Amino acid sequence: MAHHIEHIIDQIDERKDELIDLLKTLIKYKTPAPPARNTGDAQQFVADFLKEKGFSIDMWDVYHNDPNVVGVLKGKQADFYKSLIINGHIDVAEVNEGEQWEVNPFTPVVKDGAIVGRGAADMKGGLAGALFAIQLLHEAGIELPGDLIFQSVIGEEVGEAGTLECCKRGYKADFAVVVDTSDLHIQGQGGVITGWITVKSNQTYHDATRRQMIHAGGNLFAASAIEKMTKIIQGLQDLERHWSITKSYPGYLPGTNTINPAVIEGGRHAAFIADECRLWITVHYYPDESHEEIIKEIEEHLSYVAKSDTWLRENPPTFVWGGQSMIVDRGEIFPSLEVDSEHTAVKKLADAHLTVLHEKASIDVSPTVTDGGWLGEAGIPTAIYGPGKLEHAHAVNEQLSIDQLVDYTKVIIKFIYNWCHTKKEE
Ligand SMILES: [Zn+2]
Repeated sequence: MAHHIEHIIDQIDERKDELIDLLKTLIKYKTPAPPARNTGDAQQFVADFLKEKGFSIDMWDVYHNDPNVVGVLKGKQADFYKSLIINGHIDVAEVNEGEQWEVNPFTPVVKDGAIVGRGAADMKGGLAGALFAIQLLHEAGIELPGDLIFQSVIGEEVGEAGTLECCKRGYKADFAVVVDTSDLHIQGQGGVITGWITVKSNQTYHDATRRQMIHAGGNLFAASAIEKMTKIIQGLQDLERHWSITKSYPGYLPGTNTINPAVIEGGRHAAFIADECRLWITVHYYPDESHEEIIKEIEEHLSYVAKSDTWLRENPPTFVWGGQSMIVDRGEIFPSLEVDSEHTAVKKLADAHLTVLHEKASIDVSPTVTDGGWLGEAGIPTAIYGPGKLEHAHAVNEQLSIDQLVDYTKVIIKFIYNWCHTKKEE
């Protein structure tokens, strides 16, 4: 049965204003994270939109007023045809007072062929394109044989587990597309893990005891936790340099695998020797590494650093890795994601891109991180593919080219159609 998918794709140019309006509607919901806890209305809009197109809706609070939405459009021959997850985050980067926006960030406008507003590039554009594709398929009366699962998640900008919660709830598919900012490249990503390293003395000393702990004849075996932390920082720099020399991954400049000492806290008061120091680090690693391996390497290296110091040997550093939220427990993990360019779905996505846009899709790696890693970690083959440029994400006057949004919508509708019409055994 011919569904004239090409005819539906052609409609997108004529109906571009509806697509723009849909994106504007999404941007008007103020969903910056931080502060977060503000996506309820936007998520209700997405849930209603999907429900109208025949999806069954699962909506639950991950945090108060930050619900996830998962819509499932059951395929009519779901046992025999491939299923697809489309995943995107509804939260947007924060807007700070004093930023020089030309427009109100939440009152989007069209200017010079682009839609300007917070979230246009990251990533309400991707959500709008995918939702509009779903609308057009629905209006054309197309019933996909394979399952289509749409996930609109919360908290991505602050490392919260919106997507992880979807995975834990058991949502799976034969392939997933994360429609986050990729400038229409098909991408994998490196991983990020944050960690807290604590150096702590089991006793607290008065400032006046310093002479006894640092000079000959003092006879006090003690130390400043802040000073000892400098050895830890030096150790991290040595390891970072070693990684930059010995590790690499295609698509990344050498040394992209960094260890950033991002935040340091320590000491109680000028009348004391610092008895505790905490360092918050951000570690970037390559797509073929896991955060478990990275943690092991860092802890092992720092254990040697500690053993080489008489005091740290007795008072070794302790570690707390990752976290469920940058704003609740000050930590996050974004697992890495490798894209297999030989996977049938990746080939079909690249083929849809080529057929619709008449140019070869780039398959490479994202310089940033998305929720794609969680889907990959759940065993779902996944790729990032979305509209928008990273230079606009999180930026003042964030924007998305309308032409690119239209192109994106055409490609994604073709891919949804093709993949959900692919037999399971292929
Ligand atoms: Zn994003």
